[in-house]
Amino acid sequence: MNKLAILGGAPVRTKIFPSYQTIGQEEKEAANKVFDSGILSNFIGAWHPNFYGGDRVIELEQKWADKYQARHAVSVNSATSGLYAAVGAVGVGPGDEVIVSPYTMSASVTAPLIFNAVPVFADIDPDTYCLSAETIREKITPRTKAIIVVHIFGQPADMDPIMQLAAKHNLIVIEDCAQVPMATYGGRPVGTLGHMGVFSLNYHKHIHCGEGGIVTTNDENFCERLMYIRNHAEAVAAAKMPNTLVNMIGFNFRLGEIEAAIAISQLDKADVLVEQRIENVKYLESKLDGIDCLNMPHVTNLNRHVYYVHALKYDPMQGGVSRDTVVDALKAELPSTELREKEGALIGKGYVKPLYHLPIFQNQMAYGNLKCPFQCPHYEGTIDYAPGLCPNAEKAHFKQVITHELMRPGMSICDLNDVANAFHKVFENLDQLQSLQS
Ligand SMILES: *Cc1c(COP(=O)(O)O)cnc(C)c1O
Repeated sequence: MNKLAILGGAPVRTKIFPSYQTIGQEEKEAANKVFDSGILSNFIGAWHPNFYGGDRVIELEQKWADKYQARHAVSVNSATSGLYAAVGAVGVGPGDEVIVSPYTMSASVTAPLIFNAVPVFADIDPDTYCLSAETIREKITPRTKAIIVVHIFGQPADMDPIMQLAAKHNLIVIEDCAQVPMATYGGRPVGTLGHMGVFSLNYHKHIHCGEGGIVTTNDENFCERLMYIRNHAEAVAAAKMPNTLVNMIGFNFRLGEIEAAIAISQLDKADVLVEQRIENVKYLESKLDGIDCLNMPHVTNLNRHVYYVHALKYDPMQGGVSRDTVVDALKAELPSTELREKEGALIGKGYVKPLYHLPIFQNQMAYGNLKCPFQCPHYEGTIDYAPGLCPNAEKAHFKQVITHELMRPGMSICDLNDVANAFHKVFENLDQLQSLQS
């Protein structure tokens, strides 16, 4: 009866889990109004009143800025675009270094490359998986211009010491807020703890409009530069005469009116959706209490964690079997989730391989074929991306972290009980897994 499913026993559950589906009548009506207007985007890529976009774009930006107590919010068509625009707004260029995190989605580290600057990886804090002032400090050089801090998995990084360090060295701090809408640090919302904050509205995030992003800032100059870079800076430079032409080649990072209309409806739902996630995690954690070799996320008392994923820390020494074997066993006990059937049970081995392992870093091949920016004549440093570079990130990713998404709104108490039962079944029968160890 307790035979694990991975060994041929009966799984805890086979009935598919409910989808995380937050798009409803409000979004449909909002999008339909845009269809009826016939104006699906109202940007003009030249100096003109419409340079700043259409009505929904501007409404979304105002609502977002209010909600995050930010002076400005600049919408873009993805967080990736937002990160590119933010790094460009700083004025980063050839010869510069930008300190980045290894444990994040890849766009958080490619942004400096777009401006021919070198990403320098600092290690993560082993408890929160975010960069910390201690890990950043040793990576600062005379070439450092900026730091991209990622609030990973739903929890803000410890920002006060990071901002103090940044002020001392005159560095700009960009917060990657893609995974933390409505999270707070010391009671303050994320997004203006640093100089700019970048949010995502892609399909996988807490709230979404398919694809989209927003950059928040309290800085007038950054706001203006973000808007130029978003919308063909080069075409307005003559009319607007920006005070510098650094990085004033623009892009088209503009958000459409349909996406903006959907995002406005989603923003109204953000509080409820985030609350529900926190409630589900609280319930699940009460049920998982007492599994010795599995630690729940470490949430510092300054933070409101909003659980983009629920990242558990497994101790393979104590458990006696590898993390990968445990995850395989857990996945065998549980079904997939509606709309994401192809992924199996939404439980993962770690998150993303520490990013310096990517071929672009291992081969130092990014901009053109001359190994720029890594071995560019303008770059006076030497950079090393050897495996082993960030031991905390490697230990977390390869040996300890188990991420799952089975706490998203839509999961009932019964669904959550099944998740907890699967964890108990596997962790109470780890001895059965010895035979699977390679
Ligand atoms: C999703 C994500 C991004 C990229 O968001 P897009 O809107 O898809 O470009 C960047 N950083 C982190 C941490 C993310 O999770």
